[in-house]
Amino acid sequence: MSVPYTPRKKARIHFEPNEGPKKSKSTNPLQKQREQLPIAKGKDALVREIRDNDVTILLGETGSGKTTQVPQYILEAGLAGDGMIAVTQPRRVAATSLAARVAAEQSVTVGGLVGYSVRFDEACQAHTKIKYVSDGMLVRELLSDPILSRYSVVILDEAHERTLRTDFLIANLKTILAKRNQVNDSKGKTKGPLSVSNPLKIVVMSATLDAEKFSRFYNNAPILYVKGRQHPVQIFHTVVSQTNYVDSALRTFFQIHVDKPPGDVLIFLPGQEDIETLDKSIKMYAQRLPIERMQVTLCPMYASLPPSKQARIFASTPPHTRKCILATNIAETSITIPGIKYVIDTGKCKEKRYISKDNGCGFDTLLTRDITKSSAMQRAGRAGREGPGFCFRLYTEEAFKDMAISAEPEIRRCSLTQSVLQLKCLGQDLEEVEFMDPPDIVYAMSALKSLWLLGALDNSKTLTTLGRQMATFPIEPYLARIILTSKTHGCAVEVIDIVSLLSSSSKLFLDVSDQRDAITDARRKFRHPSGDHFTMLNAFRSYQEIAASESKSERKAWCRKHYLNERTFTEALKIRDQLRVICRRVDLDWRASRSDIEEPVLRCFTAGLMQQSAMLQPDGSYKQLMGQLVVKIHPASTLCDKKVPAIIFDELVYTGHAYARGVSSVPRSFLSGITPPMTNGPVTSR
Ligand code: ADP
Ligand code: MG
Repeated sequence: MSVPYTPRKKARIHFEPNEGPKKSKSTNPLQKQREQLPIAKGKDALVREIRDNDVTILLGETGSGKTTQVPQYILEAGLAGDGMIAVTQPRRVAATSLAARVAAEQSVTVGGLVGYSVRFDEACQAHTKIKYVSDGMLVRELLSDPILSRYSVVILDEAHERTLRTDFLIANLKTILAKRNQVNDSKGKTKGPLSVSNPLKIVVMSATLDAEKFSRFYNNAPILYVKGRQHPVQIFHTVVSQTNYVDSALRTFFQIHVDKPPGDVLIFLPGQEDIETLDKSIKMYAQRLPIERMQVTLCPMYASLPPSKQARIFASTPPHTRKCILATNIAETSITIPGIKYVIDTGKCKEKRYISKDNGCGFDTLLTRDITKSSAMQRAGRAGREGPGFCFRLYTEEAFKDMAISAEPEIRRCSLTQSVLQLKCLGQDLEEVEFMDPPDIVYAMSALKSLWLLGALDNSKTLTTLGRQMATFPIEPYLARIILTSKTHGCAVEVIDIVSLLSSSSKLFLDVSDQRDAITDARRKFRHPSGDHFTMLNAFRSYQEIAASESKSERKAWCRKHYLNERTFTEALKIRDQLRVICRRVDLDWRASRSDIEEPVLRCFTAGLMQQSAMLQPDGSYKQLMGQLVVKIHPASTLCDKKVPAIIFDELVYTGHAYARGVSSVPRSFLSGITPPMTNGPVTSR
């Protein structure tokens, strides 16, 4: 059955006709490409504006050359002086891949003149001038250097995504700008007491941005526009709304594959699970196609996919083959994929959202939701990079009209716990900071309460020594609290191992819902009666034994056999090294271990997870200790069919019901000392 579409009248997405390539003076092919980018024409004007203004707002279509070129222009024009240029990215994959690209354009190896810094991974040296950083890493640098004195230019890229970290930077940069540039204005370039030889410059960049709003925030900063090269994209909407977007995407893909001329397909889906499901179905149907039909090659693309697999999307398509990329919104703006002629847009994405409870407790969760108009336009635009394209929207035109214009900033919908702690370290209170959009008071109170419960703040909302130590770890405050508690219990080795696994960007235990019995069998030998945390630890230990004695391919096979994600292990090993270094800084002996580790380790986890704990009720359900939510144990947990008196868990996921994932059983006595504070604590004093 086919999905019926109406072509949208006047569906052309704007822009200038494609201008022929400019004549190049350079022989280096990458230099030629640089010169042909749309932004190259505006280079001189751009450099002039940046030179003349503290803050510049730059708007330009995806692919026009903002992210790769602007830092190089600034460097080449000498605008950075002795300082460095930071380019922030909301996603780590973008930071590392852009650094590689720009290093190649500069004919240097990455980590020298051009480097990157993301959580738990860094490639830069003393002479690095252009540094692609995740926004979170720049926030961390602020904590140790509150005026960012090493940088003379900070480029806030993809600012429209309005991540919590970017908003944090937007606010703090405004204050830093006032401090640094005033000093430079009044005391001359090199004599300021802050010993900053260059004033600070800020460039805010995006493809779709409420530029006026940014301009107003930064004292009417000038707005520049780069004209992109965009070909017309014909947009189709479904006639009726689709109930199953994965199934609709499958059918639409084959409609294109059978009916339409060659050209690669990009399908936007909300998350990894949907990508895996669709990947399997397309593979299955593609095998049944007649041999003379074009082949299909599938490339999944999501943030936690190993980088080597992500790189496949950039490879050129073999002859007689149609490439089909299944991507999350990671492919919406930050990366450029060649060859796409058809886009299928499910209209869905995953969004982090904080669920706030009446008593001030809450948690972050990922929810699938409708995209915004600006996402829909971006997604469609991906089909018109190299020639005219087509976008098939799996939703009606009415649904498109009803979409919100752009996404709500994270500061209005995510947990503020880590940010409030970081601000406290900078001597600031959330309510005093001038944010572009102020956070919701309920979320702010929730964050204060969490930090108080974790012992990071005292009754008068003052940062404690423990709180300051927690902020030295580049992980969520509750995980830092778990590590710091091990100091009392002498079990740092085990605690750090487990926290490293939990801090990895991908999950260790692969979960395929229709193979759960086979998976349980395969992993039986790691199973620990206390639950998932120790089961993870057992698997990690076995992996390290295998890694010490077996070849790479045997290690891989071993991971596959036990449905374990090897990438989580390799990432955790790196994270562990860094956490151990930080432990030294806070005077915690990471070598501490003992023979009877179960109880002390679970005590440490309870100290961090007390807001994520639940008690067994007489009717067999589990009720949260703080918050009245009834939770079930996730079917993929080792404890899923057990009834234990009390549990702690890493996260709650919603799929029809609230499921606790990453669960361990703890004695009730661990939790009985903790009462949900309703009337005392720092929050009511506001
Ligand atoms: P923008 O930030 O405006 O979206 P970019 O600076 O990221 O644009 O990219 C500009 C152009 O550089 C892209 O259209 C693409 O042609 C090229 N490019 C960028 N990154 C890569 C890469 N990793 N590999 C190949 N080409 C790339
Ligand atoms: Mg960009």
